[in-house]
Amino acid sequence: MVDIPAAGNGQVTKRFPKLKIKIIEVEGFESVVEGIDTETNMHCYIAVHSTKLGPALGGTRIYPYKNPEDALDDVIRLAEAMTSKSAIAEVGLGGGKSVIIADPKKQKNSALLHSFAEVINYFQGNYISAEDIGTTTQDMAVMREVTPYISCLATKQSSGDPSRFTAWGIFRGIQATLNNLYGSNSVKGKTVAIQGLGHVGSKLADYLFWHGANLIVTDVDQKKLDHVKHTYSAKVVPPNEIFGVDCDIFAPCAMGGVINPETISHFRCKGIAGGANNQLSSHADGQLIFEKEILYAPDFIINSGGLINAAMEFEADGYDPIQSRNKTDHIYNILTNIFDMSEREFKPTSLVADEIAEHNLKEKIGKRIEPIDFGH
Ligand code: NAD
Repeated sequence: MVDIPAAGNGQVTKRFPKLKIKIIEVEGFESVVEGIDTETNMHCYIAVHSTKLGPALGGTRIYPYKNPEDALDDVIRLAEAMTSKSAIAEVGLGGGKSVIIADPKKQKNSALLHSFAEVINYFQGNYISAEDIGTTTQDMAVMREVTPYISCLATKQSSGDPSRFTAWGIFRGIQATLNNLYGSNSVKGKTVAIQGLGHVGSKLADYLFWHGANLIVTDVDQKKLDHVKHTYSAKVVPPNEIFGVDCDIFAPCAMGGVINPETISHFRCKGIAGGANNQLSSHADGQLIFEKEILYAPDFIINSGGLINAAMEFEADGYDPIQSRNKTDHIYNILTNIFDMSEREFKPTSLVADEIAEHNLKEKIGKRIEPIDFGH
């Protein structure tokens, strides 16, 4: 049995007496809370945007936000995008996300993760955590000591690190983008510029290398850059130069907001197809790149492989990576349809994707029928 925090502002739990959970009203959201534990120095936000199609699954991001407002803003935007991602992937899940204000390299420890996990318990299964920037499968195991509402564990029944499926979905999305641009989905001889060589970006670089692509890469971490440069003979550029490189595909795999009026003015790519969440700084940027005739693979579709894989662990027959791979492959077809609709209706791909997500939500397409068994 988990120690479920009582609902209501400022209530404490027996196990974490200094933990305070405050409810924050956010228009259009089912539930948003702030958790502060002065004993473990934990400060988090969890946002559940929608559970219309099933419990809200979304990663936990640990990041040294400059202030609480930035953290709240990030969790809100990320949670909303998860609703659209789940709706289009038809995985019977809703949209949610969580963030912890901390430097994962210096401030992450078991006590902090445990009191954060207690805030997850507050949602009683309506929010399920997974990995994101700053968290690992090991962190999920630590959180699992306090809450059962965790996915992506490194156990037999669970689905493990989602990033290889996320990267595979992006690879398939790049193929769909190339196919629309050049009439062939081969990446051989094509140039892909990858921003961010973390869990997702590094695996994407590997898939692309073995299929014959040329790589241009950047990261703020010199060690990762050295490794990728050496392993794949990739061209390395400084972080601020990646937006203006001449390439077939720009693949953002770091932080959000990288498609904005400033970067758009520098873009020399033919398509944008990468893993970062919330790549557009606003809806208007989708229109701007459409006008600039840059083909954009909407982020919440192309990066849904990790979610698809995580959802597979809740299947009645148990987790099967082959099924995850096959469903992730389908990202190619979903994107191809979106590109076709965008051309036919002369609309930005981002708008087409939003409309499909809204339709699936309205019609309850893919809604979960059986409750999830969190026994694993
Ligand atoms: P990660 O933390 O492992 O990697 C991020 C990388 O980006 C790091 O190497 C970091 O040094 C680098 N980086 C940070 N700022 C940068 C900058 N300004 N310029 C260049 N590089 C920079 O995270 P990840 O799991 O690989 O996720 C990457 C993105 O994909 C995130 O936006 C995440 O939300 C999204 N995403 C990840 C998954 C997944 O399965 N991990 C699933 C869906 C979406």
